[in-house]
Amino acid sequence: MRLARQLQVERRRTLSGLRSLVPALLMFLACTADLAVAIPSETPELDPPARADQATLEPERADQATIEPELADPSELRAELVAATPEAIAAALAAAEQEVHELGIRAKLRYSPAGPLPSSAGLEPAYAERRAFALAGDLDQVRDWMALAKFGTDAALRGPLADYDLIVTREGEHAWLHVIVPVQGLDPDQHPIGRHEAYVAGERWINLADRLEPGRHYLPYKTNGKESIDRQWGRVDVIEALAEIADDYEQRTGLLLGVGDISHVTGGKILDHWTHREGVDADLYLLDHQHLHAGRPSIWWHHFRKARSIWSSEPLGKGKREPRLDPEDELSDTPTSQRLRVLAQIVFPRDPIAYFVHDDPRVLASFDREVGERRPGRRYLHAQNRGMWPRHCDHVHLRWVDGDLPVGGTPRP
Ligand SMILES: [Zn+2]
Repeated sequence: MRLARQLQVERRRTLSGLRSLVPALLMFLACTADLAVAIPSETPELDPPARADQATLEPERADQATIEPELADPSELRAELVAATPEAIAAALAAAEQEVHELGIRAKLRYSPAGPLPSSAGLEPAYAERRAFALAGDLDQVRDWMALAKFGTDAALRGPLADYDLIVTREGEHAWLHVIVPVQGLDPDQHPIGRHEAYVAGERWINLADRLEPGRHYLPYKTNGKESIDRQWGRVDVIEALAEIADDYEQRTGLLLGVGDISHVTGGKILDHWTHREGVDADLYLLDHQHLHAGRPSIWWHHFRKARSIWSSEPLGKGKREPRLDPEDELSDTPTSQRLRVLAQIVFPRDPIAYFVHDDPRVLASFDREVGERRPGRRYLHAQNRGMWPRHCDHVHLRWVDGDLPVGGTPRP
């Protein structure tokens, strides 16, 4: 099993290595295309014989058509693909039990439904068909087990149970991790990722890393270096919107957006935050990918002093100043304040995002004046209007809120 896991990791690495070769390949193809243009006289001569060959091939197609009736009935074929045999399911379930044991998870395995059973999670049929077991625990235990099962112990991004459907449910301070053999069984050659989701307070949650590839479409990032994709769970509409925002940001800046904490898979208390408990908060980082710090992109801190916005390499205006785009112009953006402006524009038409929080009034004040006309109570909160919200000097905080928003005062975090 361990060897198989290692191979999966290697395959991922090889794939990402190949992906990094794509630009070079495209360059090569572009060059060869140029070469082809340089020898156009040869192509007309080649054309007719090629067409003739194709014509002679056509009768074979007719043969294929006569073979078709001998193939199995398509519906039978589909049935075979859709449902694995009971033996295959039992073997896959036993392998999952073994993996749970190897991960050091010492919880009792339960083979009957327990806890909330949201119908769209498909838990009842899974238990009825003996494809599932559950691990019950408190919120901390279940989030740890899910992280181990889905992402593994070595940050390989693919845990030993990633092929399985992994469903987390929660009720009060209790949670369950359901490990399920997919209906079609496990495919040892393809290793598709299973369906991984959580149901918290009646909402379906998913993980950002299942929607965007970390390191390729966005960068998991926290200023303290403790970023983790297992803290990037959120309500499905929040994750979908974040994926679009990161994509838009990359198209407009050419840079990967940094994404920090969203929520734990179970929701609930999370280190470093008062909020981020309900899958509707996200921290975004306007990373400077040109200046690396210990191999990581750096950030510039915003400091608001004497009605002026300062961007510097350390908090509170200390360290180096970030150079302005136009050194002659006092009011010119810095690269980071320009990225903040781009992100503010990207978020502006997205009315479900009630609050956009970052300390820089220079960039956010005009957005705050206008955004309430789109949705009453929507706000861009900054150093001069944030009320009880904590300082946001190194990242942007987004908060989704359903329903009516308070109008006229400063919203509470
Ligand atoms: Zn935050």
